[in-house]
Amino acid sequence: MPCGSCTACCRDTVVLLPNEGDDLSQYEHVELAGPGPDHAYALRRNEDGACVYLGPKGCTIWDRAPFLCRFFDCRKFFLNRTRQERRDLVRRGLASAEVFKAAGRLLKQERTSSPATSTNGTTV
Ligand code: SF4
Ligand code: SF4
Repeated sequence: MPCGSCTACCRDTVVLLPNEGDDLSQYEHVELAGPGPDHAYALRRNEDGACVYLGPKGCTIWDRAPFLCRFFDCRKFFLNRTRQERRDLVRRGLASAEVFKAAGRLLKQERTSSPATSTNGTTV
């Protein structure tokens, strides 16, 4: 991901995924309240909302960051939802407006910096 200096998703809930290899014992975490009987956990956040592992220069544990941190792509998260779905997620507190804004900025940069290509890959 070409995140640059963006840390928007480090200020959002990052769910830990044991099924994807996240070892809960390796992370400061909290249990998330949910409607079902299954337990869900997320990285602990500071009072300002930032992940406890976010330092002045970015992630302090990148070499062992959880699955979602390593594989989350805000551009896909944005593109796979309609505008209404994005609004609903933000309104319900299930996604961060800042993450969608970051995705929008990146997608706009990509559109303006690369020549348009046709579906067979040739430049048009
Ligand atoms: S919101 Fe997007 S650009 Fe920003 S840190 Fe997360 S993945 Fe990177
Ligand atoms: S572990 Fe690192 S990449 Fe993941 S949310 Fe925390 S600071 Fe960001």
